[in-house]
Amino acid sequence: MADIISFFEQVNRNFDKAAALTSHHPDLLTLIKNCNSVYHFTFPLLRADGSIEVIHAWRAEHSHHKLPTKGGIRYSLSVNEDEVVALAALMTYKCAVVDVPFGGAKGGIAIDSKKYTPQELERITRRYTFELVKKNFIGPGTDVPAPDFGTGPREMAWIVDTYVALSADKLEGTACVTGKPLAQGGIRGRSEATGRGVAIATREAVEVEEDMKPLGLSRGLAGKRVVVQGLGNVGYHAARFLEQAGAVLVGFVEYEGAIHNPKGLELATVWAHRQETGSMLGVAGATTLPSREAGLELDCDILVPAALENQITGENADRIKAKIVVEAANGPITSEASERLGERGVLVLPDHFVNAGGVLVSYFEWLKNLSHVRFGRLEKRFEEGAFRRILGAIEGATDKRFGAAEVAAITHGADEADLVNSGLEDTFVTAYARLREIRNRHRDKADLRTAAFIDAIDKIALCYGDLGIFP
Ligand code: NAD
Repeated sequence: MADIISFFEQVNRNFDKAAALTSHHPDLLTLIKNCNSVYHFTFPLLRADGSIEVIHAWRAEHSHHKLPTKGGIRYSLSVNEDEVVALAALMTYKCAVVDVPFGGAKGGIAIDSKKYTPQELERITRRYTFELVKKNFIGPGTDVPAPDFGTGPREMAWIVDTYVALSADKLEGTACVTGKPLAQGGIRGRSEATGRGVAIATREAVEVEEDMKPLGLSRGLAGKRVVVQGLGNVGYHAARFLEQAGAVLVGFVEYEGAIHNPKGLELATVWAHRQETGSMLGVAGATTLPSREAGLELDCDILVPAALENQITGENADRIKAKIVVEAANGPITSEASERLGERGVLVLPDHFVNAGGVLVSYFEWLKNLSHVRFGRLEKRFEEGAFRRILGAIEGATDKRFGAAEVAAITHGADEADLVNSGLEDTFVTAYARLREIRNRHRDKADLRTAAFIDAIDKIALCYGDLGIFP
C-alpha cells in the first residue's frame, strides 16, 4: 500500500539515500539521523464555558551538534510526536544547508487555533513556555523557537514576555525566541523572509537554461504560470515576490477551496476579497474548482505547496501537471511521490533549502538580540558620507554631474532591511549553486533533495570529526 510510512521515516528514507552516496562511518550516520530529545507534556485549560480541556504539547530537539537548537512552534490539530520529530530533523538539515550554526528543533501544540479566543491562546502559549522553561527546553543558548503553521509574531511576543519574567537572564533573554514583533526585539524582514527565500530559490532554478530545456521551459521567471497552495505567511509572501518578478499567478488553493484563471489573478485582489469575506471563493475573474485537490493538479509551470506536509502523495503524484514543484512548506511531498515526480522529470526544489529563509533571518534576529544593536546603525551614515565624497571627487575630476535622484540612490547607506535582504539573497544564491554542483557530481543518483541531504550530512559530520570518535 502507498505512503503508509511515518513522516520521520520519510525524512530518514531521504537521508539514507543521500548517506549511501557519502563515505561516513555508519555509526556516525546513525548518530546524525536520530532525534536527541523529545518532551511531550499535557496541561489543563479552563475554557470560557467552564469546561476543562487537556492540551497536548511537544518540543523535540533533534541534534545538539551545534547550540542552540532552533525551530518553529506549530499550532495544529495534526501535531503529534512523529510530526514534531520529523520537522525537528528537517530543521537540523536546513540549518546546515544554509550555514546557520544551530541544531534542529520543533515544537507543537495539538489545537485548532481558530477555536480559541485570543485570551485562551495567550494562556496556552504562556503555559507552554512555562513548561519549556521548567525542563530547560528554551533559552538563548539552549533552544530558540520561532513561528510556524498557526503561530506568528503575537505568539512569539507572549513567549519572550513569559521567558524574561521567569528567567534570571535579563541581558540575553530577548534572544530566547525569534520572529518577534519589532518592538519586542524582532528584526526587519523576518515576516516575509521565508516567502522571499522561496521566490529567490525559484528564480535561481529557472535562471539555469540547461535545467529548463528538458522541462520545455524558457529561462527566467517572467510569464511562468504559478499555482500557490496556502496563503499564510509563507505562501502569501512567496506569491507576492514571484508576482513582482513577473510570474503569473494562475491559481490559489486554500482551506476553503481552490480558484483558477489561466490568464492570471492579482494577488492583491484575491487577498482583499479574502480579508473582506473570509474566503477567496467568488473573487472577480476566478473560476472555483470542484475541490482543493483539483487546485494542485492545475496545468501550470510551477506549483508552490506552502501549507502543510503530505499534500502530494503516491495517490495524486501522477496527476500533478506542474513542471517544477517548489516545496515552500515542510514535507509537502511524500518520499514515494518524490520518486514518482522524479521519474517523470519534474524538477523538485527541496524544502530544507527552499524554506530556509525563515531560519536564516531568525539567526540574524538572534545575533541582533545578543549584540543589542540594530544592523547598520553604526555604519549607515558613515557609508553615505564616504559615497558622497567619492561622487564629489568624480565631479571634481571630470565633467560628470550627478542629479539629485542619482546621488540619493548611489549614496544610500545600508540599513537593517537592506542588510537582512542582502544576507538572504547571498546565502540562497550560493547554496543553490552548491546544491546543483553536488547533484551534477552524482548525476544519475542524486536529485536536488538528495544533494541537499549530502551537503547537510557532510557539514554535520565535520562537527563530529573534531571529537575524534569516528575514523
Ligand atoms: P500559516 O499558518 O501562516 O499558513 C498556512 C496556510 O495554509 C493558512 O492560510 C491555512 O489556511 C492554509 N491551509 C491549511 N490547510 C490547508 C489545505 N489543506 N489546503 C490549502 N491551504 C491550507 O503557516 P506558515 O507559517 O505559512 O507555514 C506554512 C508551511 O511552511 C508549514 O509547513 C511550515 O512548517 C512551513 N514553514 C514556515 C516558516 C515560517 O517562517 N513561517 C518557515 C519555514 C517553513
